[in-house]
Amino acid sequence: MITRAYIGLGSNLDAPVEQLRSALQALDQVEDTRLVAASGLYTSDSLSPGQPRYTNAVAALDTALPPLALLDALQAIENNQGRVRKERWGPRTLDLDILLFGDQVLDEPRLKVPHYHMHARPFVLYPLAELVPADFRLADGRALAQLLDDCPFVGLERL
Ligand code: ATP
Ligand code: MG
Ligand code: MG
Repeated sequence: MITRAYIGLGSNLDAPVEQLRSALQALDQVEDTRLVAASGLYTSDSLSPGQPRYTNAVAALDTALPPLALLDALQAIENNQGRVRKERWGPRTLDLDILLFGDQVLDEPRLKVPHYHMHARPFVLYPLAELVPADFRLADGRALAQLLDDCPFVGLERL
């Protein structure tokens, strides 16, 4: 079975635009997985004070992997690109989050989908909107158009 998954990419260290380009290539190389589309790149200030500006994008994947195997693959790519885990929400070379995994709703210790903060993050919602139809709904039923209305395009710059 093939599932369409949406991945949030973010970087604010070591040439973020290059980090995201490398990550998109790496996503296309994940076993049993194909990169279907990628949004444009968006920059915004970090939510944590004193950190460099972030660059973000969203990618659409078709994958035959189960969700936790996809998460393993994403974490391997993060590690490959020099992700160091110190404090939570610290600056990072690469963050790859599973935003949506088909129509599945998951609430496991390692994996919560839809991603629990995506509804409040313009740097996730606006790039996602480039990749889906206008009437798109998240797996939990929320309409993307409504989330966009509630989350103004503030502080974002599309490169
Ligand atoms: P945030 O979740 O607020 O975006 P973060 O991406 O910086 O923060 P990480 O340090 O990348 O957080 O991940 C912390 C843990 O979150 C991971 O070990 C992973 O198991 C868990 N996790 C839960 N749900 C997801 C998801 N949908 N995508 C990626 N990781 C997830
Ligand atoms: Mg994240
Ligand atoms: Mg993460």
